[in-house]
Amino acid sequence: MNMHKNVFKESNTSVKKAVKYLERSKLVALKTETVYGLACDPSNIEAINKLYELKKRPAFNPLIIHVNSLDLAKKISFVNRKAEEIMKKFWPGPLTLVLPRKKNSFVHDFAVSGLETIAIRFPNSEIINKIISAFKRPIAAPSANTSGYISSTDAHHVIECFGNKVDLVINSGRSNYGIESTILDLTGPTPIIQRLGVIDSSLLKERLGVEILESHLKDNKRPNSPGQCLKHYSPKTPLKVNVNSPKIGDAFLNFGNDNSITHDPSLNLSKSSNLNEAAYNLFDFLRKLDKLKKKRIVVAPIPYIGIGKTINERLERASI
Ligand code: AMP
Ligand code: MG
Repeated sequence: MNMHKNVFKESNTSVKKAVKYLERSKLVALKTETVYGLACDPSNIEAINKLYELKKRPAFNPLIIHVNSLDLAKKISFVNRKAEEIMKKFWPGPLTLVLPRKKNSFVHDFAVSGLETIAIRFPNSEIINKIISAFKRPIAAPSANTSGYISSTDAHHVIECFGNKVDLVINSGRSNYGIESTILDLTGPTPIIQRLGVIDSSLLKERLGVEILESHLKDNKRPNSPGQCLKHYSPKTPLKVNVNSPKIGDAFLNFGNDNSITHDPSLNLSKSSNLNEAAYNLFDFLRKLDKLKKKRIVVAPIPYIGIGKTINERLERASI
């Protein structure tokens, strides 16, 4: 962790420092409740270019823009009554909304890949919200990892990925959920889930009382929304899902308390079969097993319930 020259703990001083960095077109890694984000000023083309270059992110993959109030969301998007209701129910929190974009100097075309729509989130994370308040503008913050690799859920994952190429890292400990936000597209007649995330579809349906479509289906050969390339979240080691009996030479990612499986090396996402705990550990454990450079990482079956659906979707995409 100390290998990086510019790592600071969360504090009022680090908030001020982050704002200065953002104003000078620099990149700041910070914790959100989902995963760590790599923040930049979305109005600044130099900063946007740096961000895409560092992440090796394809230019067609738009950034999620973070706000800390409904008012700020309304400055960069058209918010109708239905969207406002959803914001009031789920924000701050792990739900990103895709809305028609209002063009102005807050967000450069290049930050949203030239789209007429914009993905916005009000995170439940003190550090990022304080920075947005002090910066007085929205900030872009995609996940702080090289495009396609496992997301970062901890400051040291960010440093492993980028070293000193990330200008500033604010270390606020581990992300609370460990998995990305759910993306809900509100630009059509029926809300569509474009990416599974922390909030699962049944909870959305129940709390919103409306029909919701799901477009993240894994057998779709084409990406369903910009940037949703099928292969993603991937370790360098080949990964296989739904494996009950690991073979010699495998690194095993277990789930639940099945004592009949004794394998070395192995990690257990949740001995008590708790899916939230499994989500919290998922990316950290994948990184740990990837470092062992075994022939394969094999993963025990995970139930397709609630956040378990999201865990399975991430693992399936990691295994392509
Ligand atoms: P991440 O790279 O984890 O921050 O995820 C960003 C994802 O948000 C992208 O891959 C897109 O799928 C989605 N996204 C961002 N902006 C838009 C948009 N305007 N319309 C649809 N999806 C979007
Ligand atoms: Mg990402």
